[in-house]
Amino acid sequence: ETSKSLNFIEQIIEEDLENGYSKSDLRFRFPPEPNGYLHIGHASSICLNFGLGLRYQSPVNLRFDDTNPAKEEQEFVDAIKKDVSWLGFEWDTERYASDYFQQLYDWAVQLIKDGKAYVDSQTSEEMAVQKGTPTQPGTNSPFRNRSVAENLSLFEEMKSGAHKEGSHVLRAKIDMAHTNMLMRDPIMYRILHRAHHRTNTDWCIYPMYDWTHGESDYIEQVSHSLCTLEFLPHRELYDWFLDQVYDPKMLRPKQREFARRNLSHTVVSKRKLAQLVAEKVVTGWDDPRMPTISGMRRRGYTPESIRNFADTIGIAKRDNLIDVSLLEFHVREDLNRTTPRVMGVLDPLKVVITNYPEGPEEWLEAENSPEDESLGFRQVPFSRELYIEKDDFKEEANKKFFRLKLGGEVRLKNAYIIKAESCTKDTDGNIVEVQCTYDPKSKSGSANPESLRKVKGTLHWVSIPHAVPSEIRLYDRLFTHESPDTQKDKDFMDFINPNSLEVITGFVEPSLKEAKIGDRFQFQRMGYFCVDKDSTEEELVFNRTVGLRDSWAK
Ligand code: ATP
Ligand code: MG
Ligand code: MG
Repeated sequence: ETSKSLNFIEQIIEEDLENGYSKSDLRFRFPPEPNGYLHIGHASSICLNFGLGLRYQSPVNLRFDDTNPAKEEQEFVDAIKKDVSWLGFEWDTERYASDYFQQLYDWAVQLIKDGKAYVDSQTSEEMAVQKGTPTQPGTNSPFRNRSVAENLSLFEEMKSGAHKEGSHVLRAKIDMAHTNMLMRDPIMYRILHRAHHRTNTDWCIYPMYDWTHGESDYIEQVSHSLCTLEFLPHRELYDWFLDQVYDPKMLRPKQREFARRNLSHTVVSKRKLAQLVAEKVVTGWDDPRMPTISGMRRRGYTPESIRNFADTIGIAKRDNLIDVSLLEFHVREDLNRTTPRVMGVLDPLKVVITNYPEGPEEWLEAENSPEDESLGFRQVPFSRELYIEKDDFKEEANKKFFRLKLGGEVRLKNAYIIKAESCTKDTDGNIVEVQCTYDPKSKSGSANPESLRKVKGTLHWVSIPHAVPSEIRLYDRLFTHESPDTQKDKDFMDFINPNSLEVITGFVEPSLKEAKIGDRFQFQRMGYFCVDKDSTEEELVFNRTVGLRDSWAK
């Protein structure tokens, strides 16, 4: 393989392999904070880390970065595990930063003894003022030169619960004049009298992200710790913290950064998605309009389509916005290959075939997929009264209208050619019924040469006595702006699309009565649909996953 086909992270790994790493040194991790559900941005990171695991046959840990009990919950841990598995990846071991609280504490005590950490007892406001600015050095805390003994006893008291939240913090003693602001005596621990979803009330001091992340990588012997670009300035601190504990007999983890992926017409930030849930803009984290993995699963997206999307966009060194229509392209491509075709009418218009015999229905054979013969055939009932789409009939229309018009012919999919003879209107002038005749010799698939007769249009339909009324949920973009959270002087909530959900009653063919929650179909000419979890024995509920064509990019 040439280096051209390698992304820049793979190139870094290849160089490391040339310069002394062995393949068995390689180890990766995906490190979500369990403070929300995973979204499409996380899918990129999952595909990157687990993709490297597959490429180099290396273990990949699922590590929960659970250092903030104020925001983290078991519900989110469970959802994250489900989503990573559903995407099709297997982690080597399940780890928690909280597993390392004792080790981190012991190391912190060592730092205090080495004169590299101290307890600061100022308010956060006072410390913020002393931090300085990027162009001006900060000033030392009056507590910076506390004795080791005093620091040890205060830190011990913090741990044992003797102090209130906000009264003390443990800080690394680095350099208050450092050009990198993050190196100006960063906080390592704060007091939080909060129960943790795993350690319960064992701890009331919690380690900060920077102190935790690199040391966790070191404990797990992760070789390449891949994170998003906003952590680039943190790398120096990551390395400083590692320097304090590093044993040269061990592997030293490297932090490397890649660009965050943003998707158009949505937001990918757990905090903002949580706000949509809390303010009931959506029905939950798994609302089919959400860019969460669980929302996309409920919408009908397949794991393959999300993985193909992530592979296509690859990774980058600069943050960028990916158009959601690229994701939808991959969804359509996969659903086209894998879903059976069925017929459902979303906006019904009654058709009566006046020369078709009254009485028992006729069952016609219909192919389930032109893309996949193995999906076989099913039987579809035909009768004298049918629904077609309202849009598919006009009294008069020009030559480009390949659907039904008075005096014109169309083929009904899997059935007969019909001709519109007349129509009936209500008192407001709306067409409520079309009277047609059919050509009995034109039956699809019959031996009769008339069955091959070509007409311009083919319509989908359902037999009225057999039609199954169903709730159909049609979705549109959740936001009207392609980048709702980057607009000056505007809040992303200002761009909510008020019409992102339309609920209608449609009529589907009776074979769908057997459909189970999660089953996916192509409703011919109407798009891809799946059975929603709200479906009951009494009423089927379908989500439109995506239309057949891109109706947005005009
Ligand atoms: P959020 O702002 O949504 O909470 P986060 O980065 O705080 O995102 P984490 O749970 O810490 O969320 O993320 C786990 C991993 O996924 C991290 O390595 C993070 O860098 C990566 N990640 C998160 N969002 C994106 C994104 N939009 N694109 C690529 N990777 C992402
Ligand atoms: Mg994070
Ligand atoms: Mg976050």
